[in-house]
Amino acid sequence: MLPYGRQSIDENDIAAVAEVLRGNWLTTGPAVAQFEKDVAAVAGVPGPAVAVTSGTAALHTAYAASGVGPGDEVITTPLTFFATATTAMWQGARVVFADVSEDTGNLDPDAAAAAVTDRTKVIAGVDYGGHPIDAPALAKVAHDAGAVLLEDAAHSVGGSLDGVPVGALADLTTFSFFPTKNLTTAEGGAVVSPSDELLAAARNFKGIGYTRDEAKLRVTDEGPWYYEVHSLGLNYRLPDVLAALGSSQLGRLAQFKARRQEITDRYNAALADIDVLRTPAHRAGAEPVWHLYPLRILDGRRRELFEHLHADGIGVQVNYIPVHTQPIFADLGWRKGQFPIAEAYSAQEISLPMFPDLTDADVDRVIDSVRTFVGA
Ligand SMILES: *Cc1c(COP(=O)(O)O)cnc(C)c1O
Repeated sequence: MLPYGRQSIDENDIAAVAEVLRGNWLTTGPAVAQFEKDVAAVAGVPGPAVAVTSGTAALHTAYAASGVGPGDEVITTPLTFFATATTAMWQGARVVFADVSEDTGNLDPDAAAAAVTDRTKVIAGVDYGGHPIDAPALAKVAHDAGAVLLEDAAHSVGGSLDGVPVGALADLTTFSFFPTKNLTTAEGGAVVSPSDELLAAARNFKGIGYTRDEAKLRVTDEGPWYYEVHSLGLNYRLPDVLAALGSSQLGRLAQFKARRQEITDRYNAALADIDVLRTPAHRAGAEPVWHLYPLRILDGRRRELFEHLHADGIGVQVNYIPVHTQPIFADLGWRKGQFPIAEAYSAQEISLPMFPDLTDADVDRVIDSVRTFVGA
């Protein structure tokens, strides 16, 4: 079975991990500090990034750093992995969904603006498939509301919008380094921000709430062992073993991005002329990193196409089941029909295989199978 996503690990990655295992620091050591610098460089921020144990942990950390608490509202998209929404609930927030733009599947700034209330604390967009959100428009909506713009960039590390790297577009940006994403640390993630204050709050939260900052300590004459705890945190620390893998992978991110673009171009060239199919939108000024190839089939036969590809030994995926329809949100009163654009996108979507080690022959086999199905 051809997988729909897969990591690309080379001998340098393996050597980088082995070197850490032979050294003194398995965690909280120099490989983490290096990775945090490396991620900040790609994200176009002074940094350092705050490395964490997953993309989910990155989202939770970002909401905590934003000061989200009980009574606050977080506006987000239904077309995402559900952790974008549920991590805000861990901070006691109410999640408010808003619909997406029909072309990119990204949070629609007008829909987000219509969902703003005086309790809105964060607007969280998702770079669906690797295509950056309309960050300038969403930042305006957020800032006019006195809220923070969070960009869930689990799909888009290495991308940019109008020349600005993903990571420097929003107040807070989160990454995931799960194996299927654009680069991997096995499990891992990171938070970046252009704001030192938000970054410090994120670092404090993922470090269990420890404070050794002289300026913050209430007691200053205790001794070098002394620390204080001023706020809640969790242990979301990424170990050195995994950070070393991340830095090694980052060295090939440009290559991964280029190969993902080639694969996208190959799919587009073969599928764009078929009436019943819709290839992914690409807005002017956006430089996506194609984490997914989200094809849409417009004749209502998504399930049949999914099963046809599976029978041909081709792994595919649906990204995503609309989050507001999950029982946890249905139980809070959210209903199917409330976000027709996201729901239609989701009902038509099928993610074709997309990963850097996919060969042209693999891509052509997928294309042939899709074309056979639609009778093209
Ligand atoms: C993968 C993903 C996450 C969660 O990342 P993990 O590293 O799997 O915890 C969050 N949001 C989106 C959009 C994702 O695709």
